[in-house]
Amino acid sequence: MNATLEINAIKEWLPHINNPLLISGPCSLETEKQTIETAKLLAKDPRVFVYRGGVWKPRTRPGSFEGVGSIGLKWLQLVKQETGLPVGTEVANAQHTEEALNAGVDIIWIGARSTASPFVVQEIADVLKGSNAVVMVKNPVNPDVQLWLGAIERVYQSGIKNIVAIHRGFTPFKETIYRNYPNWTTVIELRRLMPNLPIICDPSHIAGKREYLFEIAQKAFDMGMEGLMLESHIDPSCALSDAAQQLTPAELARLLDRLVIRHATANNPEFENRLDMLRSRIDAIDSELLEMLSSRVEIVKQIGQYKKENNVTALQINRWSQLMDNRVNIGKKLDLNETFVKILFQLIHEDSVRMQTEIMDTE
Ligand code: PEP
Ligand code: MN
Repeated sequence: MNATLEINAIKEWLPHINNPLLISGPCSLETEKQTIETAKLLAKDPRVFVYRGGVWKPRTRPGSFEGVGSIGLKWLQLVKQETGLPVGTEVANAQHTEEALNAGVDIIWIGARSTASPFVVQEIADVLKGSNAVVMVKNPVNPDVQLWLGAIERVYQSGIKNIVAIHRGFTPFKETIYRNYPNWTTVIELRRLMPNLPIICDPSHIAGKREYLFEIAQKAFDMGMEGLMLESHIDPSCALSDAAQQLTPAELARLLDRLVIRHATANNPEFENRLDMLRSRIDAIDSELLEMLSSRVEIVKQIGQYKKENNVTALQINRWSQLMDNRVNIGKKLDLNETFVKILFQLIHEDSVRMQTEIMDTE
């Protein structure tokens, strides 16, 4: 299967949408009162298009609150009746999916832990056959774009065209202040592989803390995401799950007020002309960069040959350390990001050593 899946735009199943797709509601539904009161406050804000509420909660460790179960579906029905908002919940097996569809849940999503398991995704996809549900697929816990893509394809193969991907961050594999590392490169890769797939961001599970929600949400719009899923609760400090990352509906509204929504194009010829001009300068600089790299390769090859004739090793660790320190220092003076310069020269050096060993190993 390739990138030409006929996945519908959000507008196809939510025709009145006039803003990015905003989904909000509690991490977990806890009581009927908490469910309805949160929903009523959210429904007053025209920027909220869908109500979310977890009823089956996949908790990392046993003993935590695992959701109210099927009774929560009844509360979601009440939300629909009383507010008119479409409702969504997470499903993690065939039974959940059947129950959610029977209860008229409009949107179901596959959680990060489930996306990482093809058997679970297939089991859910099999139940989805023939339904007109909207299905959202969160990224798997590990930054494996193929696993994410595979889950989307399984859902698509069961006849579902209303699909949205949700970026909720990845189990931290490097130091981060966030609960889940955003690793935007994985999201960019998904976008490249499936350009017509709507992708929204879940800043709540990335941030893990209220204080980081705004910066992640803004970054999501800067990166062209088509919406947000943000957890909210009538009284977050008393929430039975994810208390530190949920907002009251009023705090949510304040956060939304501050966000700048960006568009794929400006629909303004003057902007397009100036952008084209700046891009052609970038194109010219990139081609100069490549020509300079090619001149560097020529010299690397001469060095490789010279070392070979004198039986000297390709890798010379002292030279490498000095080179790296020197390049990072020059980069700093030029206001270049230190990590960027390090990674760039690691790549350049790695390729130089590869070329030199190739020269040494050919007769
Ligand atoms: C959730 O949305 O409440 C949830 C459990 O999310 P995730 O699968 O992203 O951890
Ligand atoms: Mn949660």
